[in-house]
Amino acid sequence: MTTPVNADPAELEKFSELAHRWWDAEGEFRPLHQINPLRLAWIDGIAALAGKQVLDVGCGGGILAEAMARKAAQVTGIDLASKPLRVAQLHALEAGVANLTYREVSAEALAQESPAAFDVVTCMEMLEHVPDPASVVAACARLVRPGGWVFFSTINRNPKSFAFAIVGAEYVLKLLPRGTHEWNKFITPAELAAACRAADLDLRHTRGMQYNPLTRRYWLDADTSVNYLFATQRPAA
Ligand code: SAH
Repeated sequence: MTTPVNADPAELEKFSELAHRWWDAEGEFRPLHQINPLRLAWIDGIAALAGKQVLDVGCGGGILAEAMARKAAQVTGIDLASKPLRVAQLHALEAGVANLTYREVSAEALAQESPAAFDVVTCMEMLEHVPDPASVVAACARLVRPGGWVFFSTINRNPKSFAFAIVGAEYVLKLLPRGTHEWNKFITPAELAAACRAADLDLRHTRGMQYNPLTRRYWLDADTSVNYLFATQRPAA
């Protein structure tokens, strides 16, 4: 296999190794299962998914991609880790979700192949695993049609995010396996906003995501100090 330029093989291996655990709602990917209804409702509320052509970049085992397909969108999920993609495909097959396809291709390559092909592009919890996140942002901007929506979520980089997203989540609460995240790869909202501006995406909505370890609940609010989401829009032609 030729290694694509904008991917870290060690990151892809990490997700491949755990692929068989992807749909265990109490396993290593529990946080993704728990935040999924929240982010799905937020995305659907902004972009009205039913009937739309949707691309999920870095889809992994397909937790969000399959949920969007259940909202009657026509969904394509892409990732560069083979095993999570196979798990995603199998899960969709078993669940009988037909309006959903998966492909092993980079966002950059698909943008060359199918520019402006999607009404909605989602890229969640992925940018912090990539060597050049701005290149993925630019590819997402090329993949969406004029007037379409691009959604990102990632983790802020500051002392609080080190304490919460690494020490808290991986070592104290053990919500995620150790080594899931590297703090220096986290991305500040200002950096992500700059990458969006450079790609000609207009930032429309920003939300922060919080977790209460006592109630084990997640919610969205205005505090972007750790996890956050962006809704951006490609200007209409
Ligand atoms: N977006 C999914 C999965 C997040 S886990 C969700 O939120 O539910 C991060 C995913 O990013 C993994 O599946 C990993 O394989 C993928 N990934 C990491 N680097 C990538 C790259 N360069 N291109 C595409 N996917 C990548």
